[in-house]
Amino acid sequence: MPRRRGTGAGPVVHRTARIGLRPTRAQRQRCFGLLRAAGDVWACALEVNAWRWRRRDAPAASYQELCQLLAEAGPGTFSELDSTGARSVLRRYSDAWFSAAARRKAGHADVRFPRRRRALMPVRWYHGTFTLAGRSLRLPTARGCPPLLVRLDRPVPYPAETVRSVTLLFTDGRLWIDATAELPVTVHPTDQRPDPQRMAGVDLGIIHPFAVAGSDGTSVLVSGRAIRAEHRMHLADTKARRRATAARAPKRGQRGSRRWRKTRRRARLIEGRHRRRVRQALHEAAKIVVDWAIEHRVGTLTVGDPRGVLDKPAGRRHNLRLRQWQIGRTLRILRDKAVLAGIRVHLVDERGTSSTCPACRKRITKPRGRMMSCRHCQFAGHRDLAAAFTLATRTPGGAPTTCTPITEQVVTHRRAGRHLPGADPARRDPRRRPPAGGGSVGRRRPAPPPVVGSRSPTSRGEDRQRGLGPPGPRS
Ligand SMILES: [Zn+2]
Repeated sequence: MPRRRGTGAGPVVHRTARIGLRPTRAQRQRCFGLLRAAGDVWACALEVNAWRWRRRDAPAASYQELCQLLAEAGPGTFSELDSTGARSVLRRYSDAWFSAAARRKAGHADVRFPRRRRALMPVRWYHGTFTLAGRSLRLPTARGCPPLLVRLDRPVPYPAETVRSVTLLFTDGRLWIDATAELPVTVHPTDQRPDPQRMAGVDLGIIHPFAVAGSDGTSVLVSGRAIRAEHRMHLADTKARRRATAARAPKRGQRGSRRWRKTRRRARLIEGRHRRRVRQALHEAAKIVVDWAIEHRVGTLTVGDPRGVLDKPAGRRHNLRLRQWQIGRTLRILRDKAVLAGIRVHLVDERGTSSTCPACRKRITKPRGRMMSCRHCQFAGHRDLAAAFTLATRTPGGAPTTCTPITEQVVTHRRAGRHLPGADPARRDPRRRPPAGGGSVGRRRPAPPPVVGSRSPTSRGEDRQRGLGPPGPRS
């Protein structure tokens, strides 16, 4: 239930940051104790409703009813977990139950009510029950237990008074705190306020996560090659790791060894790190776009929604590319940042934007490369920017009619995820290396030993530079 706020207050949004914990061994044990007790609360809710179902009673699904059952259980039922934390689990259960019921009512008969037990369940504490001071967080526990003090690995990125709740959870092999803050939508000074009449089209893509073209002829192009490289390198690493550890995997019905558990834990940590890296790069890319929009006082972003392509089978290679693209998340991140900055976002159909000339609006064949050129007029420009430009004209309720010729554009180039290790030239996307002598060179082999006395040092040096030349007769 949303909190009642003062009538004079401006619009707010809620934003969550995930922050790692730096617990001592004892604090770690107690955190796991809380998560496990929360898992017990969840299991109890499942169990109670299983009994009721067998007795053909009405299910206990409303939050109030579940809280009453919790109160009847009395203190100390769930070890150190206090009633606020336990109620947060009941709230989660109730929300899940009612959303399942609503979707079943809407005709989705395959949606099921919560039924799975969890060993560890996230616990949330709302404002006033925890204390946050810098990087130290004091979590409440049941009466009679000392409160739990933990240290965060970075300060919460929001003003302390805006933090409304903290959630303790375990994922990617680590303990985390999700801090949710209630942030007011940015109010800009009048002369810098984004103008809703100034529009920009945003084209989403794999190579360029965001291509943004404003109606005033300026545009920004964000390159995401580093993100794609991170995906590729992660896949290569995962394959290599699987190949190396497959022999140690426990057989069916066999208990895994301690060494296997360590291998699994390491793999989970690496997976989590990869996901965080990609997410961080996407956030940075969206920030570039929103900063650009604020700088140019663009108040409306019209985003082409490419999610229609997800339903089409595209073959296993392209399917993987589409999944790694993470369109839904990219859209959400952009929208969240734009709304916080006071910029409106429209989602429109993007069909045909990459095969329409932005200058004369005629249909042309979709270019294979990045450059688009029109055979009806003299237009030539970047394909994604041309698509973004066409998208800007699709803004619902008043699109820009007079457009600056796109050929006179000022394009700002930015790169997302430059800090990613995949962006390093040493581990770059192998397809972007210049081909050595044309065609595949096959597996890399060590250079053949030099033939003593038959050639001069200079020619050997040249040969080494060429590197991957096929072994054969030499001059
Ligand atoms: Zn044209």
